[in-house]
Amino acid sequence: MFVDTHSHLDILEERGIDLEIEVENAKNSEISFIVQSIDSFESNFTSTQLAEKFKNFVFSLIGVHPQQVQFAPKNYLEILQNLLDRNREKVVAIGEIGVDLHYPETKETKKLQLEFFETLISFSVKNSLPIEVHSWDSFDETFEILKKFKGRVRGGIHSFSYGFFEAKKFIDELDFFISFAGSLTYPKNQNLHETISKIPKEKIVFETDSPFMPPTGFRGKPNSPLLVKEVYKFAKERFGIDERQVFENVKKFLKIT
Ligand SMILES: [Zn+2]
Repeated sequence: MFVDTHSHLDILEERGIDLEIEVENAKNSEISFIVQSIDSFESNFTSTQLAEKFKNFVFSLIGVHPQQVQFAPKNYLEILQNLLDRNREKVVAIGEIGVDLHYPETKETKKLQLEFFETLISFSVKNSLPIEVHSWDSFDETFEILKKFKGRVRGGIHSFSYGFFEAKKFIDELDFFISFAGSLTYPKNQNLHETISKIPKEKIVFETDSPFMPPTGFRGKPNSPLLVKEVYKFAKERFGIDERQVFENVKKFLKIT
């Protein structure tokens, strides 16, 4: 019933977490499945391998992370297409792709990021897959590119960090989903609380983005896909969001066969 729509299991493993145990615990905690995202270009291979290893429980994204565009090989599209063709049933979306203008070093690659984002959206449309978008301090740039694909692109914004105005634009104009992470549970994040209380319940999904951003009460330790239940719990108690509704949303958001 509970789904973590965005996690980095490979980074958890690098930090000494035993994924066999992690996945077993998740299975025993009513978690239906986990979506594994990418960071470095090489992690596209790791991610699809994890989806093979934990078949029908871990599914994969493939793409080029906006913080990593400068390191992608020239023939990245060809490589991703080959990888996708060999792993069709394991890949549920193209992601995480998008625009990140949060850090001084990511601002430097802005032009390249915009090119990659547009190319990878075309790639998702061509392959009839939704996208998971990473957008940090870059609403205008993200939205402008997505708008070019209005009516053709589908997907959602992962680890949403903007406010109601931006969420409404993504929903009304692009029919996108909004994915909230552990940061939803932070008392200071009034903008997220306002957003989740005002947007349609049919457009809400949840994730951990583990090992990053553990929910309140778990900070200081690596986040885990299991803790997606904390996000669900918070959303249910504070905003009346039912996990069955969210499960229906996930099925519409991702390519689940
Ligand atoms: Zn991520």
